[in-house]
Amino acid sequence: MSEYFLIIDGKKIATEKTFDVINPALGTVFAQAPDCSPAQLNLAVEAANRAFQTWRLNEADRREALSACAGILRSSAEELGQILTEEQGKTIQHAKGEFEWAAWWIDEVLSMEIPIDIVADNEHRRIELRRKPLGVVGAIMPWNYPIVLSISKIAPALLVGNTIVLKPSPYTPLSSLKMGELLSTVLPPGVLNIVSGGDELGVWITNHLGFQKVVFTGSVATGKKVAESTASHLSRVTLELGGNDAAIVLPDVDPKQIAAELFEEAFSQNGQACIAIKRLYVHENIYDEMVDELRKRAEKVVLGDGLDPDVNMGPINNLAQLERVIELTEDAREHGGKIVTGGKRLARPGYFFPPTIVTHITDGVRLVDEEQFGPVLPVIPFTDINEVIERANATDFGLGGSVWTNDLDHGMEIAARLESGSTAVNHHTDFHPLIPFGGAKQSGYGIQNGVWGLDELCQLQVVSIAK
Ligand code: NAD
Repeated sequence: MSEYFLIIDGKKIATEKTFDVINPALGTVFAQAPDCSPAQLNLAVEAANRAFQTWRLNEADRREALSACAGILRSSAEELGQILTEEQGKTIQHAKGEFEWAAWWIDEVLSMEIPIDIVADNEHRRIELRRKPLGVVGAIMPWNYPIVLSISKIAPALLVGNTIVLKPSPYTPLSSLKMGELLSTVLPPGVLNIVSGGDELGVWITNHLGFQKVVFTGSVATGKKVAESTASHLSRVTLELGGNDAAIVLPDVDPKQIAAELFEEAFSQNGQACIAIKRLYVHENIYDEMVDELRKRAEKVVLGDGLDPDVNMGPINNLAQLERVIELTEDAREHGGKIVTGGKRLARPGYFFPPTIVTHITDGVRLVDEEQFGPVLPVIPFTDINEVIERANATDFGLGGSVWTNDLDHGMEIAARLESGSTAVNHHTDFHPLIPFGGAKQSGYGIQNGVWGLDELCQLQVVSIAK
């Protein structure tokens, strides 16, 4: 059995206690993760604070070190991909791809300058807006894309001169700890600290006075707790929370042409993505054909252990999530929902649930109103575009949304009426290091990615010179 350690001040640190990590393809414990104590969290914050004093000074050094991090992620994709599949469930191709993706993410972040804006330059004044690092950033992560989501916090935070203490999800701590171990070989001690533990470790982070900023990605329910505890000491916070994205399909499209992409956007990685399509509204004229095209794709999926190269969909990550998916599916069934395909947990070890399409339900049923975060898609017919926009917007979520049509102007018009942080026409999402990303309503606040994301990790400072 491999041994895993906290990464604090560039060193591998053992803990008194450990906790179980389960392989969701088997439903059994396969490793122990270190359980960080409050005293060890303090050490991590102190190390990050010490490192900050030098790390903040030299941008060229930071760029060089981050570039080396990208190289390490690329060369370790093979080794770490295996661990990611074992703890997360995703297919080995996706797991290795996530490391490549993370390496590319760093390269893109490095393509950005840290801007200095000239706000005014006249005969009386020259006023500049500068970006200064904040200090120690705490990052609290979910289990669906442990590596790329972590790097999407780490790379911009480090580029602008902050240092980090990052806590992976208790379901997927191992790949992040190993990544931290490898990245410590090219980063100065204390710049990146990785600490694993249960939910209470997240609470200690949000209550800790040593963090100047907390970046949180996770559910709305936890996001509210994070906002509450950071409010008491006014630590800055960015919340990237859940979604219940609607996709609206107009009658002028050919279901055969868009089915593959719609299916991918809804079911990729078992629908365990914040920006997955979670409600599909299809015009009644093409409804039956659309449902049938999606069904065909669902039935072609090869479900199994992600380590098997022939498999293209792994298990759901954890038992609680599987149970939630089952509960929402059963609730839909009780409310008259028709299960077109799938609908039952596989009778084998592990947390397997097939891609499932549900019809004959509408708004007001939990599967439509709540975030399922799993491989069960409600497909709902509509007739009137104004009415469907209203239904798409009748939610407290506001992460993303999309419109599918051959009339691009009409599509743009509808997309602009959707109440979400991102909207798209004829695709669903742009999660990209240079494109701002953030939720409307209860899907969170603050923006990540691009220069807008850099601003969230900086203190904006006005420097005004009298002439
Ligand atoms: P979660 O909220 O249960 O947990 C996220 C993290 O918060 C974990 O590390 C957990 O240990 C920690 N945590 C739990 N309680 C805490 C507390 N009281 N204080 C501080 N930290 C605490 O979320 P999850 O189940 O890991 O992830 C799934 C959710 O994440 C979904 O809702 C999904 O939509 C959302 N998500 C959002 C984005 C985005 O960018 N908007 C991306 C990925 C996932």
